[in-house]
Amino acid sequence: MVTRPSLNLTLLALLLAVLASLLDWVPPGQALSLTGSLPILATTLCQLAWHHHHQALARWTGLAILMVLIFALASFLIPEHWIAHAAWNRLAERLIAGSLIVDWRPPLLVILCLIMLIASLLVRTRANLGSPQLQAMTALLLIMQGIETWHAPHLLSLAGSALEQAALWSLLAAQLSGVAANWRDHFPGLKRALSAGVLLTCLTLLFWHQQKTLVESNLRADTQVQSQRLAENLSREIHDHLQAMQRFANSWELQDSLPAEAQWARQAAPYHRDFQYFLNIAFIDTDSRIRRVYPASATNQRLLGRRLFDAQPEGRSAQGEALFSGRIGRTGIIELLQGEPGIIHYLPILDDDSQGPRGAVGMVVSLPVLADTLFRQTNANHFGLSLMTLDQTLAEREAIARVAAWQHRSSIDLDGLSLTLVSRPTLSLLLSRLSRQPVVSLTTGLLLAYLLYMVLFAHHHMASQQRLMVRSNRELRHEVRNRTRLQEEVEWLASHDDLTKLPNRRHFMQVLERHHQTRPLSLLICDIDHFKQINDTFGHLQGDHYLKRIGELGREIIESAGGVFARYGGEEFIACLPSHDAVMARDIAEHLREAIQHLDLRQADGRPLTISIGVTTQMDGELQIDALLQAADEALYAAKAEGRNRVIIAPPPSAPAGSSP
Ligand code: GH3
Ligand code: MG
Ligand code: MG
Repeated sequence: MVTRPSLNLTLLALLLAVLASLLDWVPPGQALSLTGSLPILATTLCQLAWHHHHQALARWTGLAILMVLIFALASFLIPEHWIAHAAWNRLAERLIAGSLIVDWRPPLLVILCLIMLIASLLVRTRANLGSPQLQAMTALLLIMQGIETWHAPHLLSLAGSALEQAALWSLLAAQLSGVAANWRDHFPGLKRALSAGVLLTCLTLLFWHQQKTLVESNLRADTQVQSQRLAENLSREIHDHLQAMQRFANSWELQDSLPAEAQWARQAAPYHRDFQYFLNIAFIDTDSRIRRVYPASATNQRLLGRRLFDAQPEGRSAQGEALFSGRIGRTGIIELLQGEPGIIHYLPILDDDSQGPRGAVGMVVSLPVLADTLFRQTNANHFGLSLMTLDQTLAEREAIARVAAWQHRSSIDLDGLSLTLVSRPTLSLLLSRLSRQPVVSLTTGLLLAYLLYMVLFAHHHMASQQRLMVRSNRELRHEVRNRTRLQEEVEWLASHDDLTKLPNRRHFMQVLERHHQTRPLSLLICDIDHFKQINDTFGHLQGDHYLKRIGELGREIIESAGGVFARYGGEEFIACLPSHDAVMARDIAEHLREAIQHLDLRQADGRPLTISIGVTTQMDGELQIDALLQAADEALYAAKAEGRNRVIIAPPPSAPAGSSP
């Protein structure tokens, strides 16, 4: 089966696989990409060994690669609650620190292609073991890889690189060009089984693609919802916090324009404790000076007495809103006096009588601390997070594990100020949540397609075998019938006379022996009179005709009397009449003689043809064939001597001989 083109195509596959492996190789320390090139290279070498008739080597390497591939396939198939994704990752980590299982296993479709190609080699590319179906499935999987490559980005690439796909196509083409010619004999069965197998494979692939897309988009929606929930929690918390601060501001009934220091600290403490992203809670007088601040840290103490109108011009309009108009004022994102980005809310403290502002509560929110509070609500193994304004990243938390290509954006409402939370789920989180169902369906579907092919092919094969068997059975039966007929013919010829179709002398003797207990038993020997002359006058053919006619008549008469009529030899006939005594025998002999005389057969001189008959009978005692024959012969002789055309009864041993004309 090794042809030049198939060998060349395998060598091309080897070249492509080597190139793909070299491109996969990255210097230590960078992100690993072991992927599918090495197994493709190994499979190519296995196919080369097979081309060079190292069958045992090809089989064992093929089996070894197959084991590894099935192990890799298992990592796609086994449910999370049987073996968690984290366990597979720990295994990868043990092999090379920092690597994940996705770095080690080839893409799903590459694994399946390689399994098909190796299985096809292991079944020695025989059509009855499913090689055509395996190769057709490889082709369809490769087409699917092409579609996957051009399709929207996926969570995980399931197709090999362009070079890997080209190498797989070469391997497949090499197998096909080597064996396709051998399948011509199986074509009718192959066509039916293969078309059903290919149809089921196509349906399986379409179903898988549909299911996979659905599962991924559901997963995407799930993580998006999780991220959204995080953002909503924070928005709600900020809102709650503002309302609490509003109550805090309203609770002040100032005797003079300045709250007592201890009283400020006592009342602000619980708020600061509950909402930790406050840098401070300050009392600002109508001149915008910071007069009280909680907590009384050294940094905060330094702020006391500062006039915000001068110190923080970006917040001036918000300060003015609270201090002059008596409404809540909020700055945008500004650089705080503490040197970090933040937002300040100013809540007016109103005079009970005049309802005019007596001062304001300044509530300083640090955005980095806020982001940190937010980020702490999620596991760093699961998400990387960034808090952003439109054009600037305010805070970022890297995920501990490698993140996937997906990211979600959710908006956070900080009392009218919009921020964006970007969350990047980690690959491990997504893969552990990804349903295994599409891969299970795909693998099961491919297995079923293979089995369907096998069943249909075997069915067709068996049906044609059955047809052959029926035909050869019919021929055999015909042959047996022929042989039986020939056998019967031979047997008949051995016991009959060909001319008159009467039993011959040998057969007659056997019949006679069978009657060794029948008494009385009579014997007749008949001889045609002057037969020689008939031959001489009319010729032998006519003589034969006479013999036949006499034979027919004799048989009719003797058999109707329950006897046997046989040709004794030449123109002599013999008859046996069981249970006939001499008188009965004589009557029958007479009847025979007369009947022949009345046939339309003529002697040479024109007179009717006649016969002479010698009759003998044994009444009892042991059957003495020779004596009976002798006696009948003598009686016949006597009939001839007495003038022919007569019946002579041989005398019984104890009685004197009698005769009749
Ligand atoms: P007889 O009355 O004394 O019996 O006279 P015959 O002429 O019949 O004398 P015989 O019995 O000696 O003659 C027998 C003849 O029968 C001799 C032979 O030519 C002839 N014959 C024997 N077998 C066949 C046969 O198969 N076909 C033909 N056509 N003739 C036969
Ligand atoms: Mg004779
Ligand atoms: Mg004769």
